[in-house]
Amino acid sequence: MTAVMTTSPAPSGPSTTAPRQPTRPVRVGRITIGGGHAVAVQSMTATKTADVEATVRQVLDLERAGADVVRIAVDGPRDVAALPAIRARTAANLSVDLQENYRLAAEVAPHVDKIRYNPGHLHHHEKSRPVRDKVAFLAEVAERHDVALRIGVNCGSIDPEKAGRHGDDSVGEMIESALEHAQLLDDLGFTRYCVSLKDSDPGKVIDANRRFAAARPDVPLHLGVTEAGLPPEGIIKTRIAFEQLISGGIGDTLRVSLTLPNDRKGEEIAAGRQILDDIAQGRFRSVPANFAKRLNIISCPSCSRVENEAFVDLARKVREVTAYAKEHAITIAVMGCRVNGPGETDDADLGLWCAPTHVNLKLKAVSLGTFGYDAVLTRLKEELDRLIARRF
Ligand code: SF4
Repeated sequence: MTAVMTTSPAPSGPSTTAPRQPTRPVRVGRITIGGGHAVAVQSMTATKTADVEATVRQVLDLERAGADVVRIAVDGPRDVAALPAIRARTAANLSVDLQENYRLAAEVAPHVDKIRYNPGHLHHHEKSRPVRDKVAFLAEVAERHDVALRIGVNCGSIDPEKAGRHGDDSVGEMIESALEHAQLLDDLGFTRYCVSLKDSDPGKVIDANRRFAAARPDVPLHLGVTEAGLPPEGIIKTRIAFEQLISGGIGDTLRVSLTLPNDRKGEEIAAGRQILDDIAQGRFRSVPANFAKRLNIISCPSCSRVENEAFVDLARKVREVTAYAKEHAITIAVMGCRVNGPGETDDADLGLWCAPTHVNLKLKAVSLGTFGYDAVLTRLKEELDRLIARRF
């Protein structure tokens, strides 16, 4: 995507934005999200969590860059074991990202300020245990250890019981899942939570957050465009969503998810603050009418789960070798790992997701095989040419 964004005539300053929606205050360590507080800016580490030195270094870098909250992925015992040492070396407000193993919450909660769980992943472990019980477990752990929760709904990992229930309205599935979990927590008397509804399409992020906010104006929202990709395109996509939402009074905390090497992760914070500052000053951007009708490369921001550090380079090379197709409305997704890669490439026309030594290539949901990190680029180009010949 190479759309050039032009600066529109500046609207008349902050008065162009609606008042912030009065959400509940949710304390996360030393800051408060919602309740009229300033929008908090977050980022996430991309180092291996079990590598304490590298993770602490990145947490401190992000804190220096101005992060209000730093999120860390925890997937197993080695990550859990690293947390006390990480906690001991930073005063940052720490959030933990749990994926499939929700039970790890009990082990990580003593060391962090917030836990993010994904409703779509609660079905993977202990399949016979009702989701309600699992949420009750998470709420009890959060209460006992004085931590906040985030219900983190993601387009690529929707609760399987909701999938397909809203026809083509994939946003409807996300909203139903978020509303259900908000109600579950409310019924348990646990209100110290926020919600996120993320998609790689800024239009869907706007739609999902507006509809959720209309239904639950009291619940603080964490905003983000997932797999926004490499800068500057990733920043532009994110800005499109944030301008519409924040200027409408929606959003209490945010992350700009960018595909960046580890030593540049602080740029996510700078991008978030710049967007907030521009919105506050009434500096909006116009969006060309054909913005979404061109080559669209989405790539995840990488995190500790990334299978190979060559991922960021791969994302860059995919952008380079496909640049010739920029006028074609084709989506290519590049994902860093097997946790979210297989699901989140399904909707793209061409998808690549990384394994330690090879890359899986897909045409929509169909696998085209596995290839070396360099060889996949040749095959990708062949498939792209075929797609263009078939469609255009
Ligand atoms: S796709 Fe995998 S590596 Fe990329 S951000 Fe998501 S979990 Fe992390």
